[in-house]
Amino acid sequence: MSKRIYLSSPHMSDEGYEKAYIQEAFDTNRIAPLGKNVDEFEKELAAMVKIKSAAALSSGTAAIHMALKAAGVSQGDIVFCQDLTFSASANPIIYQNANPVFIDSDYQTWNMDPKKLEEAFEKYPNVKAVVVVHLYGLSAKIDEIVNLCKKHNVTLIEDAAESLGTLYKGKHTGTFGDYGIYSFNGNKIITTSGGGMLVSNNEERIAKVRFWATQSRDAARHYQHSELGYNYRMSNIVAGIGRGQLKVLDKRIEKKKYIFDYYRKELGILEGLEMMPVNDWNKPNFWLSCILLRNSKVRPLTIIEALEAENIESRPIWKPMHMQPFFEKYDYIGEGVSKEIFNNGLCLPSDTKMTDEDLKRVCDIIKRLWN
Ligand SMILES: *Cc1c(COP(=O)(O)O)cnc(C)c1O
Repeated sequence: MSKRIYLSSPHMSDEGYEKAYIQEAFDTNRIAPLGKNVDEFEKELAAMVKIKSAAALSSGTAAIHMALKAAGVSQGDIVFCQDLTFSASANPIIYQNANPVFIDSDYQTWNMDPKKLEEAFEKYPNVKAVVVVHLYGLSAKIDEIVNLCKKHNVTLIEDAAESLGTLYKGKHTGTFGDYGIYSFNGNKIITTSGGGMLVSNNEERIAKVRFWATQSRDAARHYQHSELGYNYRMSNIVAGIGRGQLKVLDKRIEKKKYIFDYYRKELGILEGLEMMPVNDWNKPNFWLSCILLRNSKVRPLTIIEALEAENIESRPIWKPMHMQPFFEKYDYIGEGVSKEIFNNGLCLPSDTKMTDEDLKRVCDIIKRLWN
């Protein structure tokens, strides 16, 4: 069997930055609970994306949950959520006993269609919050979405789990809304083995999230709780990995872009194959290189199976939320764009450890299917 090629696997620095930070935590016995790595990771990430405040949490999902809670979302509230996404964008809405309404994407960005969002505001004027996603590292039409949310005075949460380092008109995705979240899950552009970050310019709300995320312990000698608590904080070991990984984020983005450009050059010429949309106002992190096959006889599954036979990992596009058995009963505002992208789309292997030889292997297998 030839060497396995992954979709996107953890890639620690060659310099050993992550190990050095972990070693420091061992040497000072700051294994847990918090400590210098957590504080510094928050500061370093906030400085990088140019935002005032950040809370390091146990996952991106926890960060979305805390953002919703900070936005005051509770029982029975309506929350608009991008339809084309991973389920973790929507699950925390249910944790808060609120009701998601799913909003379709547009072909230009694959992300939330501002026109559909406008329609949704007309139908549900009492909506409490909006969760927009920057899928696969492509930014949404965030200016338009911010303006709509401001006009309706509704909290905007940016799920930038997949788009750390992506710039929209020169500014980091995750910093346009009231809250932004990033994920450091195993296959994201940088990873801490698992973890997430909530960011905001509202320092007071971020401080409150840190309080909720550490079991809502009141300032009392005894264990006293006036509010519901969560065990959502990031550990000092995990944060050490994050600090090391932040140092190589630019390098990872550079390689991800190289992979995308390689595919575009080699595969973009195939009949009916479209690369994911990169708009001129968008500087993506190219987390995954995705393609669309709306006008091709070759089906995404054919490619997935041909690659799998050669020990190469690829993956369908996220299945839209309104098509998920669990979320089916909630409203959906759209015209089937997310479904069309799901039915015709595919994520190609985008592992930053791939060599040119690996990329050629992938492209040769795919090109054969067009002969
Ligand atoms: C990965 C991901 C999340 C969740 O992040 P975790 O850290 O795995 O909890 C949320 N939203 C999107 C779009 C993601 O891809």
